[in-house]
Amino acid sequence: MAEKNYGSYDYIIAGAGAAGCVIATRLVTNTNGKVLLLEAGGAVINVPSMEAPTKWVHNIGSEVDYQFEYAPSPLLNNRAIPLACGKILGGGGSINGMLFARGHQMDYDGWSKAGNTGWDYQSVLPLFTKMEMWEGGQSAWHGAHGSIRVERAKELHITDTAFIEAAKSFGMPYLADSNVPSPEGVGPESMNVRDGRRCSSATAYLKPLMYAGKENLTVLTGAKVLKLNFSGTRCTGLSFMVKDRSYSADVTGEVILSAGAINTPRVLMLSGVGPQAELTRLGIPVVANLPGVGQNFQDHPMACGVCFEANRLLPPPNNNLGGSLAFWKSRKEFASPDLMFLNIQVPFVTPAIAAKYSPSPNSFVITPSLVRPQSRGYVRMKTARHDGPMEIQPNFLSEKADREALIDAVEIALQIAEQPAFKAIVKSRVAPAPLDPLDRSSIMEFLKDACNSYNHPVGTCAMGTGSDSVVNSRLQVNGIAGLRIADASIMPTITSANTFAPSVMIGEFASRVITGK
Ligand SMILES: Cc1cc2nc3c(=O)[nH]c(=O)nc-3n(C[C@H](O)[C@H](O)[C@H](O)COP(=O)(O)OP(=O)(O)OC[C@H]3O[C@@H](n4cnc5c(N)ncnc54)[C@H](O)[C@@H]3O)c2cc1C
Repeated sequence: MAEKNYGSYDYIIAGAGAAGCVIATRLVTNTNGKVLLLEAGGAVINVPSMEAPTKWVHNIGSEVDYQFEYAPSPLLNNRAIPLACGKILGGGGSINGMLFARGHQMDYDGWSKAGNTGWDYQSVLPLFTKMEMWEGGQSAWHGAHGSIRVERAKELHITDTAFIEAAKSFGMPYLADSNVPSPEGVGPESMNVRDGRRCSSATAYLKPLMYAGKENLTVLTGAKVLKLNFSGTRCTGLSFMVKDRSYSADVTGEVILSAGAINTPRVLMLSGVGPQAELTRLGIPVVANLPGVGQNFQDHPMACGVCFEANRLLPPPNNNLGGSLAFWKSRKEFASPDLMFLNIQVPFVTPAIAAKYSPSPNSFVITPSLVRPQSRGYVRMKTARHDGPMEIQPNFLSEKADREALIDAVEIALQIAEQPAFKAIVKSRVAPAPLDPLDRSSIMEFLKDACNSYNHPVGTCAMGTGSDSVVNSRLQVNGIAGLRIADASIMPTITSANTFAPSVMIGEFASRVITGK
């Protein structure tokens, strides 16, 4: 069926996720431009699974999750590891765990040192403060007047208090605020929550604008972008689908691709922008040969298996099923922490660990993760169909340094568990079982079943200056006019904490560079 033309716009944003909602809001507010925001998922975000902090895990595997799966790896017993990604207004920001963490200042200084001018910590700090309505008010590194309410976990659960006290007696300093420039130590998590409900870029940025009925904003949900359209190497608009109907929309200014770290490289490749050999294999005519599209894939590997049964009936879970976290170094000589630990108030373990150890419902876990992994993976399309299967290979633990660091992390978790505050609430260690050997090679075997995704895919359209970079430091796609990318896919290296706050910051960065405000 022929495409129906949906009109012409100054800006078209493909993907209304953590970053996309911010960009649409800023462009509508700060310019007179006509803005079209297209989102493949639906618009219903005021349901308990998306609003209530304790219910967020119900989103995983539901219709608002793309339900990707990592390609099997013999390093992880060929298990199918799920990767959740939000398919809904607000994207991952509408279904995630609401842990709000900017990462470490060295993350951004590292991006800048790699040639990405304007991305050093001091330059992006104003964007972090701009987005934020911090419970503690304005300070050198916090904002009080932004859209995203950020507050510390309240009324800590008994398991969180025990975790904090135990990590302190293990030797970690108390970290009252995990969003200081160089977070290291143990303390309460910060969450993007307001009045007990999720505060996302959909609810905090976009929705007020939609209610205000801004004439220069059109938001279409259930609208899947199929490909970008070009005249030579200038992006002139895009084609999209609503239900079974095909449309095109034209752009006079630019298209901003914000479809996330899996779908942004997919839309680019469907449009002929990507590694030439891949495009040729798929039979897609080449518009621009960009070898880096779909490469440099990174995610945080998380061990979901270090599990304890409580010696008393645990109170119902609160906050986001957690409330405490720790950042720590596996090697003292590291300049910044490479490990992160969460306490999770329920037996949040992989199916393989559950099958082997059968944790009781009155159990809880410490989840160690690597926040500066060395391993790199890729995203490939298996066919040229827009809804065809993908091969997403994170190559988790393929680098020896990552294996060693995650083994260290499990050892540290077990040492924290030996501290008096923790022991006081534990009946027994469920996994690894008390009689399991705990030498390093046995812990590695354990990790083959326990290693999971933190659901933080990034890096597949990396910003940089080399031949593998996809965008420049102003987020313009190399070799293409009228096209920017602004989402987690542009991160050259993954930030060393959760990735929502940095994705919102990337949305703010794109808005600033486009509007000059
Ligand atoms: C289950 C889960 C838990 C998480 N927990 C946390 C946490 O506690 N803290 C934290 O900081 N981070 C967390 N994250 C990660 C965080 O949510 C993401 O890093 C962040 O949302 C990425 O933002 P983005 O803008 O790059 O992409 P997304 O937020 O994923 O947005 C992309 C949007 O584009 C849309 N889209 C995709 N393809 C198309 C297309 N072809 N046409 C139109 N629209 C399209 C998608 O539907 C989606 O809405 C979690 C993620 C998940 C899934």
